[in-house]
Amino acid sequence: MSLTASISHLPHLPSPILTAYIDINPGNPRNQSTPRGYMKWLKSTGRALSEELPPSERKAFETQLDRISRHLKTADPGSRGLVLFAGPQTWEEIPLQVEVRDELHWGKPSLQQMAWVLDEHRLRGAVLIDGSGARFLRFFLGTIAEDPPLEFTLDISSWRMPHMVKPSTSPVAKRAGIERDRVAARIEEQRKRFLKRLSDRIADWANEGQIRPVLLVGEAEEIEFVAQSMPEDLRDRIATLPKVLTRISSGEINKRLQPLLTSWEREYEAALVKDLISNEGSSHQAVTGLDETLDQIQKGNVRELVVARGLTGSVNQCVNCGWIDASGGPVCPVCGSGRQVRALRTVIPELALSQSAAIEIVAGKAASDLRTAGGIGAWLRTPMVASKGRKVS
Ligand SMILES: [Zn+2]
Repeated sequence: MSLTASISHLPHLPSPILTAYIDINPGNPRNQSTPRGYMKWLKSTGRALSEELPPSERKAFETQLDRISRHLKTADPGSRGLVLFAGPQTWEEIPLQVEVRDELHWGKPSLQQMAWVLDEHRLRGAVLIDGSGARFLRFFLGTIAEDPPLEFTLDISSWRMPHMVKPSTSPVAKRAGIERDRVAARIEEQRKRFLKRLSDRIADWANEGQIRPVLLVGEAEEIEFVAQSMPEDLRDRIATLPKVLTRISSGEINKRLQPLLTSWEREYEAALVKDLISNEGSSHQAVTGLDETLDQIQKGNVRELVVARGLTGSVNQCVNCGWIDASGGPVCPVCGSGRQVRALRTVIPELALSQSAAIEIVAGKAASDLRTAGGIGAWLRTPMVASKGRKVS
């Protein structure tokens, strides 16, 4: 089960819940002291949060804070980050092999940071195609898992077996040669049917598990055929590596393919940001910059948000109508009510979720290019031109 599937129940946990994201990474210097830095953080942040709560809620809050604190004292830090959901009838613990930022929330389960963690570390896949069939590999947070293969078997039950002789000019041998060509054609036909079935299977696999990109590894013509048989929207997330890797262990695959997937993603992201910036403005297909992006997404016009990893900063949100913008001032420009300051990191996933917009978080060159355009942008809900897959080498 993917992490995405295993957390789908979290938004429905009964309130009130104390949500804690805690950096317990033993490599973090603040966590090498006694008591651990994260224990000190929990204590002081918990005290500050408690003081902000209505007196009627403090007891319930402190009960859960105490549970988390006791748990952390004995917890073995086998992971870098920990997410805890604690409530009167709830205890959920999710260890993460990625760094998290310390956060403490009381009320509804807080999943915003989880949205970043999941998007930054999404499931990626590879399909290895050779003469015997196809292997399905999933990569997640540095680990690899293998799904059941799709085997290729030749069905020769209805065939008359040919005489396998070398081509010759004699009439008898010539007939055998024709037979052999017919066999080759039948094999090719069965192989084609297999590849067609394989592309359907890959599409289902990638859609169900939200796996992207998918790297196709195999003989050049075959992987091209498989990629071209995919639905358009998926083809865009297909990378290809024309190389037949037979009888290779999953550990070896991990070592060889992960770097390729990463570099493909970086290229994909850089191309995406380049497209975004060049389409911004004139074509009404895209916008960049915080003001314009916030405006468009709140009007329901955004199909996909593109965000530079590590985006910081804050915005103002109206306490009455909920309108968000980056302009200063204590009064909402829409309804004139008061406003509160909110971190972009929590606001962005909320907006994306409420407007059913996808989020693409970009790193590397793509992120630095995007930062020059405000660190954020969006594709608008307009018909897009067809895009094409790209190769890794
Ligand atoms: Zn307002």
